Amino acid sequence: MSNKDQLWAAFAARRAEAIWQAAERREKVYLENPCLLEMDRAITEAGSRYCTAMATGGDAEELRQELEQVQAKRDDFLRSIHADLEPHFRCAKCQDTGMGEEGLCECFRKELIAENFRTSNLEQMLTDQSFENFDFSLFDTTPQDGLLSPRDNMKRIYQLCKNYTEQFDRQDKSLLFVGATGLGKTYLSTAIARALLDQGKSVIYISAPEFARRIEAARFKDEEGQLRQFMEADMLILDDLGIETHTPYIVGTLTDLMDQRIRTGKPMLFSTNLNLDGIQKAYDERIISRLLGHFTYCYFYGEDLRIKAFKEGR
Ligand SMILES: [Zn+2]
Repeated sequence: MSNKDQLWAAFAARRAEAIWQAAERREKVYLENPCLLEMDRAITEAGSRYCTAMATGGDAEELRQELEQVQAKRDDFLRSIHADLEPHFRCAKCQDTGMGEEGLCECFRKELIAENFRTSNLEQMLTDQSFENFDFSLFDTTPQDGLLSPRDNMKRIYQLCKNYTEQFDRQDKSLLFVGATGLGKTYLSTAIARALLDQGKSVIYISAPEFARRIEAARFKDEEGQLRQFMEADMLILDDLGIETHTPYIVGTLTDLMDQRIRTGKPMLFSTNLNLDGIQKAYDERIISRLLGHFTYCYFYGEDLRIKAFKEGR
């Protein structure tokens, strides 16, 4: 079940519980105060007399006042005994239905984002890695071998990723980050994940070795529905592809997963330190053809930022 479906179920249970508890309180109050039944009966009778008068065109005003009086009497009594008959909903606005006037209630959206964040594996990661905090000054401005300077290259990739995230619902291609370590691949992956989570999308962010470990663990008994989560998340981010163990089972599962996601229009973001040649050596034709056909390449180059920062004493 997706996070959203689980949350719908939780909301339904929460609402039912609040209503149930109110009914229990009500029953107790009525048992302790039998006069309430009497008052209810008086209200029902006054109400039906008033309705009849309205329907038949009779003089309803006096009957309306009478109805208000018996209602007020009951309200006064309930107040005097501090009766608590209404359900205690967590969200007064949507009464725990999760629905607002225009789609989802704010409370539902908030919980969904928190839940998506929790299942994304990003909860523990740095929170300042966002598009807003990206620092282009770290990148070199010297053009390289007929290529753009690392900084201009980075600006191009950054813009592509930002647009990609902002128009996520219209994406039919996935992203492949290629390049050595320390060039900002992980930073941008995290920024994309964060931006999508803030939109209420479900994201799974996982390193390829951890991914392989979980696939292997779920091979005979997928207790946590791990495979389904990898298929259902709106975005699947696999970091450091190529350093995991490539058993035929893992490669086969990854291929199936890619096919499923491509078929259902769910994008992926893979990052790898391997160059194309390395990818070709590490994987069989099936994965290569999918990477070539369905992914937009982003090639990261330049000096390792961590080494650079160390040299410059940052
Ligand atoms: Zn609400």
